[in-house]
Amino acid sequence: MYVFNNLMFINPINNTLYKIKTITFDDKGIINNLDLERIPSENIENYNTFVTYSFIDLHTHTRIPGDNQETPKSIQESALHGGYDTLVAMANTHPPVDNPQILNFVLEQFKSLDIDIKQLSAISSGLKGEQKINFDKMSSYGAFGFSEDGKWVYNTQIMLDVLNYAKINNKTIFTHNEDVFLAQNKTIINDGEISKKFGLDGIKNIAESTAVLRDCYLSYLTGAKIHLQHISTKESIEIIKYFKKIGANITAETAPHYFSLTEFDIKTADNGYYKVNPPLRTQDDKIGIIKALKDGTIDTIATDHAPHLDSEKNISFKNAKPGFVGLDLAFSIGLTYLYDKKYLNLFDLVRKFNEKPAQIINKQLPKLEVGNKVNLTFFNTKEEWEVKKEEIKSNCKNTPFLGKKLKGKVKGIFINGKYFGNF
Ligand SMILES: [Zn+2]
Repeated sequence: MYVFNNLMFINPINNTLYKIKTITFDDKGIINNLDLERIPSENIENYNTFVTYSFIDLHTHTRIPGDNQETPKSIQESALHGGYDTLVAMANTHPPVDNPQILNFVLEQFKSLDIDIKQLSAISSGLKGEQKINFDKMSSYGAFGFSEDGKWVYNTQIMLDVLNYAKINNKTIFTHNEDVFLAQNKTIINDGEISKKFGLDGIKNIAESTAVLRDCYLSYLTGAKIHLQHISTKESIEIIKYFKKIGANITAETAPHYFSLTEFDIKTADNGYYKVNPPLRTQDDKIGIIKALKDGTIDTIATDHAPHLDSEKNISFKNAKPGFVGLDLAFSIGLTYLYDKKYLNLFDLVRKFNEKPAQIINKQLPKLEVGNKVNLTFFNTKEEWEVKKEEIKSNCKNTPFLGKKLKGKVKGIFINGKYFGNF
């Protein structure tokens, strides 16, 4: 049995702040006693520690199976450390999740974890974009949805096929939007001042927005639900806004680095610590992303947690692998760059991490009531701290935020009747 006293509970569903005087859980995490009182939220800035529903990440690269970047245990520790109880796992593993045997193997690895990992299936065999896989078979083996993340489905016929399947079978297609032909033979860096300075041939915004345009249009035509991953450009936002207005069944995410960093943060071409796909963009793009988070064009913040070994990052920018670890730090980055800077209020920020992703994957957040099982994430909004390697629970430490100061921190998580904390 667990008892907590005097917690400030943020309920993003009805924009309400509650003081939980006492909450008691049984061993399975079911509430058996609750005494709470609603309090005005006007002076929410005066408080600094809160609890809310645990977070959901719609974009995790578990690297399982992979090349020792993560283990099921390290992925779970990283998720718990970041306040997450649910992850949606990408299919571009090594080998990829494109057949029932691999899918089975992966689900077996995750079975005994406390966190809930929903595994996506690839769309084409080997993520090559040539041969579609058997969607029905993968669903029957437990594929949660479909994504070719890491690559764009350039074959429009295959994309139409998977969308038609998704529409009939109520599945979501998660899309990595990058026109392969416009990005071909380029280094994954924004085509701009910094790429020129380093003598690298970068990628233009149009590579993303063209792909966003096609996929929004196909979603609109078929009625299938697509979730646009890691949106990074202001042009994409205008397209998403338009298609939402005319009723397309689309949602969109961005990742923490697109509202906090720009290409100007890349100081050297000697290593790839700031290399990510899509690349860090311009100040205008960053402002566009923040505005889209505010007005709801971008529904959610996902981590794009992409662990890489030091041997894959500490080499020339040109040759390094793209991606950052994200689970440990995403909410702190949100608190620092969106809440503390007053772009989003605390309800709206929290909503991007729990209520919105829950809606996108049709997960019902439980009411805080006796008899319900609830997972809670504990956080502080005012603690200032410096990111050190020891703070990252992922097996890999590849984040450009190492050495940076953040304001606000996840302090613990209560999941399935167990508390993990004192981070
Ligand atoms: Zn991607």
